Amino acid sequence: MLVPGMRELRDLTFAELQALVVELGGKPFRAEQIFRWAHMHRARSLDELQNVPRPLREALATRVRLSALTVDLVQTSKDGTRKLRLLTHDGHAIESVLIPSTDKMAQCISSQVGCALDCDFCATAKLGFVRNLATWEIVDQVYRAQELLAEVEPGRRITNLVYMGMGEPLHNYAQVIRSIELLTDHRGANLAERRITVSTAGLVTALEKLGNEELNPNIAISLNATTDAVRDVIMPVNRKWNLERLLAAVRAYPLERRRRVTFEYVLLAGVNDSVEDAARLARLLSGLRCKVNVIPWNPHEGSHYRRPSPEAIDRFQAAVKRHGLPTYLRRPRGDDIDAACGQLAGKAKAPPGLVQLGRSPAAG
Ligand code: SF4
Repeated sequence: MLVPGMRELRDLTFAELQALVVELGGKPFRAEQIFRWAHMHRARSLDELQNVPRPLREALATRVRLSALTVDLVQTSKDGTRKLRLLTHDGHAIESVLIPSTDKMAQCISSQVGCALDCDFCATAKLGFVRNLATWEIVDQVYRAQELLAEVEPGRRITNLVYMGMGEPLHNYAQVIRSIELLTDHRGANLAERRITVSTAGLVTALEKLGNEELNPNIAISLNATTDAVRDVIMPVNRKWNLERLLAAVRAYPLERRRRVTFEYVLLAGVNDSVEDAARLARLLSGLRCKVNVIPWNPHEGSHYRRPSPEAIDRFQAAVKRHGLPTYLRRPRGDDIDAACGQLAGKAKAPPGLVQLGRSPAAG
């Protein structure tokens, strides 16, 4: 049962946990043991903290609880992509996607239930904004996915994280930053900062703030248009921070040596896929250390947009390349299970023929 006023253990940084353990009369080294249970061994309750003395566990239980998300559906695409639907305690469904490749296992995680930004081409936008995810709900997506992997592909570990699932990560700034701090802690999941990417639709002031953080994840900008006229329509956030303002913030971003900014460019037939767009894109991004991911739009129910033809996609990509911009075509991954970019909407429909695993917390 949820007790009001109690904190979640996985919301605490290591320093906060250590302060709490000492306040409760525990030795400081116990904090590391507890942290490892929560973030390395992915414990689901305080009862699992076997080598922590019972009096300390009981004292801890008066101040914090240790909860886990419930994985209630896993869908596996024919290309190996897995979409997890996870349930929160208040009954919301969020989605997270595991994308395997030969040398890495990337996970796309959600930062909010729904999203407030209302990008016109995006399935999540149709949910509207429901609430921010707590820090523990962000990191637990990784732990439950890692737990699933241990079961279905023993030995494989999540190596890369992208904050590109449901929600605008910089709208949930404090929790996203704290989640990165926890996920990169060497006593826990120990993910490398350089393998974590935070994507934004262009919240300029939050991006500027991110540049001043000690943590240093990669950044990705969901750009998707080369004129304000088009971007104003497909991404209303552009009416607040237009292309000029956004790109000025990106140019000022303190990028580490050997790192590049990623620009995501969702290609919409007849909207932003012309060779003129390609030329404008190259001009807008000239001089920036960056790469462009071209993502042919992934269809979802109720949208009037169309994916460009293969010829139009090739033409656009070739034109961008001709202008010297490093460009990669992102083939839709998991689009048969609505796990591809812009398709996450918490509905987890299950077309016939897909593998589904019904899991509960007890399924372990
Ligand atoms: S594209 Fe991203 S920022 Fe825009 S509505 Fe969808 S989830 Fe929100």
